[in-house]
Amino acid sequence: MAFLIGKTKEGKDWTPTFVETIDIEKCIGCGRCYKSCARKVLAPEDFEDEETESLRMIMTLSNGGNCIGCAGCGVACPKKCFSFKPMEI
Ligand code: SF4
Ligand code: SF4
Repeated sequence: MAFLIGKTKEGKDWTPTFVETIDIEKCIGCGRCYKSCARKVLAPEDFEDEETESLRMIMTLSNGGNCIGCAGCGVACPKKCFSFKPMEI
């Protein structure tokens, strides 16, 4: 199995890992991931929690195709909501 490989500025290989999912059960809507993404991939959204019957904010993948696989959002997230995957080619 082969994955998409990128290059660093020094010309070294690196494997981008693209956002697969955001776990909305764990998300606290803090917005840290949103601020960390330079590609406008993420968007906050209201979510009606049926269990607690309350409205809360969650983060969604609104423009997933624009992700460059830097994983910065995952580093910023205090709740480890993100899962990532390299791209098979
Ligand atoms: S991996 Fe990078 S580009 Fe993709 S959503 Fe996260 S911060 Fe944005
Ligand atoms: S950083 Fe994590 S907890 Fe905060 S909004 Fe983003 S996904 Fe949710």
